[in-house]
Amino acid sequence: MQFYGHIINGEEVPSLDGATMPDIDPYTREPWATIACGGKADADRAVAAAREAFDHGPWPRMGFEKRQQLMHRLADLMEEHRDELAMADTRDMAKPITQAQHDVTRSILNVRFFADHARQSTSDTYPMDSGHHAYSRWEPVGVAVAISPWNFPLMLGTWKVMPALAWGNTVVWKPAEDTPVSATILGRLAIEAGFPPGVLNIVHGYGPDSAGSALTENPDVDRITFTGESGTGKIISGVAARNLTPVSLELGGKGANIIFDDADLDNAVHWAVEAIFRNAGQVCLAGSRLYVQSGIFDEFMTRYKAAAEALVIGDPKDPATQFSPALASEEHFTKVAGYLGTESLGGGRILTGGLGEGWGVRPTIITDAPADARVIKEEIFGPVTVATRFDTEAEAVALANDTRYGLNAMVFTENLSRAHRAAARLKAGTVWVNCFFIRDLRAPFGGVGDSGVGREGGNFSREFFTEPKAVVMQIDQEG
Ligand code: NAD
Repeated sequence: MQFYGHIINGEEVPSLDGATMPDIDPYTREPWATIACGGKADADRAVAAAREAFDHGPWPRMGFEKRQQLMHRLADLMEEHRDELAMADTRDMAKPITQAQHDVTRSILNVRFFADHARQSTSDTYPMDSGHHAYSRWEPVGVAVAISPWNFPLMLGTWKVMPALAWGNTVVWKPAEDTPVSATILGRLAIEAGFPPGVLNIVHGYGPDSAGSALTENPDVDRITFTGESGTGKIISGVAARNLTPVSLELGGKGANIIFDDADLDNAVHWAVEAIFRNAGQVCLAGSRLYVQSGIFDEFMTRYKAAAEALVIGDPKDPATQFSPALASEEHFTKVAGYLGTESLGGGRILTGGLGEGWGVRPTIITDAPADARVIKEEIFGPVTVATRFDTEAEAVALANDTRYGLNAMVFTENLSRAHRAAARLKAGTVWVNCFFIRDLRAPFGGVGDSGVGREGGNFSREFFTEPKAVVMQIDQEG
C-alpha cells in the first residue's frame, strides 16, 4: 500500500514517532493507502520550518512576480497530474470522478487566480494638503495555518493556502484525516516546482489532541484559516484567542432554496437537484431546506422526485456515475443515517430515498416536517432535503431566515424586483438567483451567524493574510 508522508521543510517525511493511520476508501470500505499520522511534535516541527522560511528564507522577499511564476509552475504540474489528483479525492471520499475532476480544475484556478491577484494588486495613496505623502502597503503576516475539511479536499485546501502564499506568507496546512492523499501529492508537486523549503508544509493527523489542536495552540502562528464544523470553529476561535491569533472561519450551513411559482421550472429543478445531491449533499452550501410556493408545489415535487430518482448511482471511479454510492466515512454515514429516524423527522415523511448499500444514503426528499424538526434545524451534511410549502414572499424569507446558520440561499423567480428584494432580505453570505454554486473568486465568500467569521476571496483574502501598513512621508516644500 502506498505511503503518503508529511511535507515539512521541502521534504516528504514520516511522523517523528513513526505513527501512521489507514486511509479508508468508503466505497470498498477497505484501506487503500497508509498516511503519516502527526502529533504535536510534527505540528511544531512544521511551524518551526515555516517560521524559519518566513523570517530568513527567500519567499517573502522574492517579490510578487517570482512567486507568481512559481505558483503558475505548480499549477502547470497540477494540470499534468490532474488524473492522479482527482482519483485521490475519489478514493478518499467516494466522490464521483467527474466531480473530482471538476474540483481539480477549480483547485488549479485557485493557484493561478491568487498568484495573479496578488501580482496585480494595487495599494492606496492618500493625498495630503500638509506637505506630506501617505500610502498603504500590504505586508505578509508570517506563518499561516490552514485547516480544512474532507468534502472538497484539494479545492478547499488550495482556496486557503494559495492566497496566503501569494501574499508572501509561509504555510502549514492540515488536511482532514479522511482525505489526506491529494494534499501530499500537491506538496510533492510544490517541491518539484521549486518552492523553497519551509514555504508550504503539510501535516497529517487528527484534530483534537493531535496535529490540528497543536497547530492552533502554537504561538509562532500568525493567522489561522479554518473550514469545518461550526462547533470546531468555536473551539479553534477560543484557543486562538489565547495568543490573539486572528482567525477566519468558514463553517456549517443550512441553505434555503426558495422556488417561487413564476420560476423557470426546468432550471429550478436542475439546480435544486445539484444543490443537495451533488457530492451527496456533503456541501456546506447545500440547499438542504427547499421552500416551494403553493401554486407549483405539486408539479415541482413530482419533477424533483423524478430527477432525484434518475441519478445514476455507481462506482465512483466510473465517469457515468452521477451520485456517490457511499458517504465519506463510516462515522459520517452513521450521523446522516441517524437523521432518517422518526425522532429527527419530527412527523415528516420520506418521499423518496433512504438508506442505500454499505455506507450509502440515496437521494432523499422529506416532506411535511414541522419547522422545528431536527431535519430542518440541524446541518445533516448529506443527500437529504426537506421540502416545505409557502404562500407569500414575506413568509418564504421568514422561513429561510429562521436558522442559526447564514452561509447561502437560493432564489428562483423570473420577477426581477422580487429577486433583488429577496437577495437583500435573506440572511446569508451568498445569495444565488436562478443558479447555484457559481463563484467569482474576487467576490466575498463566507457566512453570518454560526456559518462563520470573516470573508475570503480576492481582496478579502488579502486583508486576512496581510498586515496593512501606513507610510507617511514629509515632502520638503523648498527645492
Ligand atoms: P470538522 O470540523 O470535523 O474538521 C475540519 C478539520 O478540522 C479537519 O481537518 C479536522 O481534523 C480539524 N479539527 C477538528 N477538531 C479540531 C480541533 N479541535 N483543533 C484543530 N483542528 C481540528 O469538519 P468536517 O466534518 O471535516 O467538515 C464538515 C463541516 O465543514 C460541515 O459543517 C461543513 O458545513 C463545513 N464546511 C464549511 C465550508 C464553508 O466554506 N463554510 C466548506 C466546506 C465544509
